[in-house]
Amino acid sequence: MRLDSFPRHPLTFGPSPVHPLHRLSAHLGGAQVWAKREDCNSPLAFGGNKTRKLEYIVPDVLASGADTLVSIGGYQSNHTRQVAAVAAHLGLKCRLVQEKWVPWEDEVNDKVGNILLSRIMGADSRLDPAGFDIGIRTSWEDAMAEVEAGGGKPYGIPAGASEHPLGGLGFANWAFEVAEQEKSLGVVFDTIVVCTVTGSTHAGMIAGFAALEDLTGVRRRVLGIDASATLQQTRDQVGRIARNTAELIELGRDLRDEEITVLEGWAGDRYGIPVESTIEAINLTGRLEGVILDPVYEGKSMAGLIDLVRDGEIGRDSTVLYAHLGGQLALNAYHRLWS
Ligand SMILES: *Cc1c(COP(=O)(O)O)cnc(C)c1O
Repeated sequence: MRLDSFPRHPLTFGPSPVHPLHRLSAHLGGAQVWAKREDCNSPLAFGGNKTRKLEYIVPDVLASGADTLVSIGGYQSNHTRQVAAVAAHLGLKCRLVQEKWVPWEDEVNDKVGNILLSRIMGADSRLDPAGFDIGIRTSWEDAMAEVEAGGGKPYGIPAGASEHPLGGLGFANWAFEVAEQEKSLGVVFDTIVVCTVTGSTHAGMIAGFAALEDLTGVRRRVLGIDASATLQQTRDQVGRIARNTAELIELGRDLRDEEITVLEGWAGDRYGIPVESTIEAINLTGRLEGVILDPVYEGKSMAGLIDLVRDGEIGRDSTVLYAHLGGQLALNAYHRLWS
């Protein structure tokens, strides 16, 4: 296992906080639920899971001599806001393709929250009418060609930083961070629940926890909750990135099929459109814990956790770690759900 041999450029405060969700656990009447907080992991524009992935990509950016980061996401992309912050932090320019991934008709959808912050940080953020797709897009390739034609040197970061060869390393390392925190807290998390869309967060965890299992013998379930509503594409992408990351860190064995678990049932029909269970999960977590979730990602993965605990799929004696990956800034565009 050679995770330590990859350079990591610090963009976070250090290990992200882990804490129990006592009132939510009591309310569900089953497993003990804890959270690990990637939503407050960094000084850069509120951070999030993409910031952690970018720690392993920045050394390659700097080595490339690029002067412009080029990335892509929806109008309310958390990822592109984090890329804009990293560009500002490094003194680079930033060109963003913001596609209409979500048919959410609200006058402020392309003006507030994430996109507002990207504009404040100086990114050249341009809207594009194309719909949702987690794969490689021509609009993104075109944006890189434009930067080049203008005399710049682009560095491309694909959607969610997932299709980048180093995209899984940040969350492979997260597994080892969890193991360290378990020692100091005196707990062992047998189940991890994580939202998955472009896949490298979940995939990185799968590779990291597999390596940890081989070292310690501790087996855990890493349950991905699909929020893409394009299940097969996300499942394939998670499996592929998990295997690539496992190879990169020299796991030394193939991943077992049951190590790659993407569950469906909480995404609704479309990426970015909350359903009843999403809103219920957001309200429950807000009212019991004072912890804020978003309607695109974390509300859906928490809805999954709630049902899995209630149904006993996650047992009463289980200790669960909910990965809170960020995303609250998008709430601004969803104001009418609460007004
Ligand atoms: C991007 C994102 C996810 C999904 O992570 P992937 O690595 O794309 O699967 C989940 N939650 C939030 C808040 C995100 O920004």
